[in-house]
Amino acid sequence: MVRLDRAARSFLLAELVAGFAMTLTYFFKKPVTINYPYEKGPLSPRFRGEHALRRYPNGEERCIACKLCEAICPAQAITIEAEVREDGGRRTTRYDIDMTKCIYCGFCQEACPVDAIVEGPNFEYAAETREELFYNKEKLLANGDRWEPALAANLEADKEYR
Ligand code: SF4
Ligand code: SF4
Repeated sequence: MVRLDRAARSFLLAELVAGFAMTLTYFFKKPVTINYPYEKGPLSPRFRGEHALRRYPNGEERCIACKLCEAICPAQAITIEAEVREDGGRRTTRYDIDMTKCIYCGFCQEACPVDAIVEGPNFEYAAETREELFYNKEKLLANGDRWEPALAANLEADKEYR
């Protein structure tokens, strides 16, 4: 009886018909995937992506070279050198992040008293060489300038919880 049943199913291509029926069902449903990179999914304001150093609206660097981010970084990815300016303020002369060491824990951002170093929404910064992932101050400030509207909006959205 079982053999007869199998033969009948095989003869009538039952599995094939069931497969096509399943395909047809999903053909008319809303897709669960998106057409990346042309479409992008939503990101949380707390998303921890590429780092950036922010400035104040007048163009002054926010970072005051306190080195808290360097001290707290568990991966020892941050290297800072600093000097005292003529006006008495401290500023960095070197601010490097080795992105190949970073584990994206967000501790640097949490430790910063002036919201200078932040992890922004950019996750598309793959590189072909390790050297391209050794970020210096110039690169980090350029990231800050580029992403400032999104960075400020994310900090604003999350400020009640910080
Ligand atoms: S996210 Fe974490 S590991 Fe990366 S630089 Fe900041 S503190 Fe270091
Ligand atoms: S980025 Fe923030 S925590 Fe790091 S040295 Fe500058 S002010 Fe201090």
